[in-house]
Amino acid sequence: MNAEIVAVGSEMLTPERVDTNSLFLTNALNNLGVEVVSKYVVGDHAERLGAAVRLALSRSEILIVSGGLGPTEDDLTREAVAQALDRKLIYHPEIAEALAQRFARLNRKMAEVNKRQAFVIEGATLLPNDRGTAPGQWLEDSGAVVMLLPGPPHELKAMFERQCLPRLARIVPQQVIRTIELRVAGMGESDLDQLIAPVYKKYANPATTILAGAGDIQIHLRARCDTLAEADALLAEVAGPIELLLGDRIYSRNGDSLEVVVGDLLRKNHATVSVAESCTGGLLGERLTSIPGSSDYFVGGVISYSNELKIELLGVPPEILAEHGAVSKETAEAMAMGVRRRTNSTYALSVTGVAGPGGGSEAKPVGTTYIGLANAAGVEVLRRQFIGDRARIRSFASQIALDLLRRRLAHVA
Ligand code: ATP
Repeated sequence: MNAEIVAVGSEMLTPERVDTNSLFLTNALNNLGVEVVSKYVVGDHAERLGAAVRLALSRSEILIVSGGLGPTEDDLTREAVAQALDRKLIYHPEIAEALAQRFARLNRKMAEVNKRQAFVIEGATLLPNDRGTAPGQWLEDSGAVVMLLPGPPHELKAMFERQCLPRLARIVPQQVIRTIELRVAGMGESDLDQLIAPVYKKYANPATTILAGAGDIQIHLRARCDTLAEADALLAEVAGPIELLLGDRIYSRNGDSLEVVVGDLLRKNHATVSVAESCTGGLLGERLTSIPGSSDYFVGGVISYSNELKIELLGVPPEILAEHGAVSKETAEAMAMGVRRRTNSTYALSVTGVAGPGGGSEAKPVGTTYIGLANAAGVEVLRRQFIGDRARIRSFASQIALDLLRRRLAHVA
């Protein structure tokens, strides 16, 4: 079964508010085996809302409309949905009475406008709201189910979990959804897609979603089947060839971040790491130490932004800086070896680059980055040319540095 969600409210069309209700609803529906195939954000506008409702019901069996159930003139959900379904709105005096009593318990007098909340779409079941004044509504219409839920997330959540889920569970055919999340470092999205599309494009189920960040790609495979065994078999059928194609570029198969994977490998190898950072300004250290227990393997680092500190704290020879510049293979080598010497760590990572937007040259344009990895056997340096703004370049650099260490550790392990 497929579902669509309409979030109602002009505030959600401003830069200040985000529709989070649909994220909660999508997760709950997915757990039930229902796919959300479309969602909309519609302002407080009856015709647009009506059009969205009609479109959703022409394609899907489940429609959830959130928001616009309040008492004011701009709360139009009841009217718009009734009209779209060609049903009447019926006034229920007992709802108005219950609302009046609720206000009385709070020592307040109910405003006349609240009576608008006592209108129920013909044939709908009322969903009481113990967390607010807007009751929800559940109705079944020519094989489809429509739910009207209040906008405030804590009201919607309680109403959906307690009153809608049990009703849906009786209607929705039992299906399971299983997912696999593969994470890949250091590959461009288009290169990755070109490589694996011939595998996943053959399958509508599992559905494949590719989420790309700076130097980090997540491949989500989602299988929807009647049984757990079928879903797992289907996932294995698709994930297997993808894993073969991507090889050791996959750093995680269970959603673990790169810093978690690197930390686990360091711990397993009884190894430690230190960092010498220039353009990443501590990002590498921040990522490594964001993991609880990182004191087991992270000894510390130096943010050596100026040449003076590179010389003083890391022992980078001044002639290397003079001859090759701060952004160079030689400086990255000296930084990694220097911090390793100072901290006595097993491994040391260094990053030096041009994060931009200024500071680039023809030989070293913005994005040029050198990443060093030292251990007792010597030092290795990668040169990378990242594209993007300052934040993206820094993020890329930290990702490639961590991945360099991961690959080294994976070969040792
Ligand atoms: P009320 O009786 O509280 O007016 P309502 O059903 O009319 O209920 P709205 O007026 O549409 O709800 O929304 C009330 C508040 O709930 C909004 O200001 C917003 O902060 C929050 N809200 C509404 N819809 C969403 C949504 N889709 N995601 C997250 N928050 C939402």
